[in-house]
Amino acid sequence: MERNEAIAIIKEHLPEKRFIHTLGVMETAIQLAKTYHCDEKQAELAAIFHDYAKYRPAEEMKQIIIKEGMPKELLAFNTEIWHGPVGAVLIKNEIGIDDEDILNAIRYHTTGRPGMTTLEKVIFLADYIEPGRSFPGVEEVRELAKTDLDGAVFRSLQNTIIFLAKKGFAIYKDTLDTYNSFLLKGG
Ligand code: GDP
Ligand code: FE
Ligand code: FE
Ligand code: FE
Repeated sequence: MERNEAIAIIKEHLPEKRFIHTLGVMETAIQLAKTYHCDEKQAELAAIFHDYAKYRPAEEMKQIIIKEGMPKELLAFNTEIWHGPVGAVLIKNEIGIDDEDILNAIRYHTTGRPGMTTLEKVIFLADYIEPGRSFPGVEEVRELAKTDLDGAVFRSLQNTIIFLAKKGFAIYKDTLDTYNSFLLKGG
């Protein structure tokens, strides 16, 4: 699928602010794909569609989680972590993208997972450091991202876990397992 076609589709699914975020993720992901030698077209498409399901009603997402046999545990967590796994299913069914690496990059873009592919890391990181992001610690991760993909992914997970823990939010198993995986066997 061409970039302009994909952008035209996603524009209909997102409010303006999220659409601008998506274009930032796209530019950043393409840059990271160049640096870390993964396919720029895969990075472009995964980035464009990564937040596809973000504004689906919680009830619709819940039904998909149940119907697709996703971990029941997901339902106990904040709905914020549903749009990755649900998005991967919807993009396959509604858009017709069946590239598993692209779908996994979307599926795991919020939590990560142990053993992420380079494309998955690129999308995870691009989502965190795109130019529109301005939270504490993002500048350090932007610097790391220029030379150390695993280091940057690890640092963004660390920041996210600290942020969530300070707020007293539950931390999903995939997020913690991914964090640990970098410490236990170098990514
Ligand atoms: P966005 O969709 O571009 O806003 O970014 P993400 O998909 O990466 O993250 C969505 C939200 O999920 C953010 O507010 C994260 O802090 C939050 N989040 C990430 N991991 C976890 C987790 O393990 N548990 C919970 N409760 N929230 C998480
Ligand atoms: Fe997201
Ligand atoms: Fe993210
Ligand atoms: Fe995003």
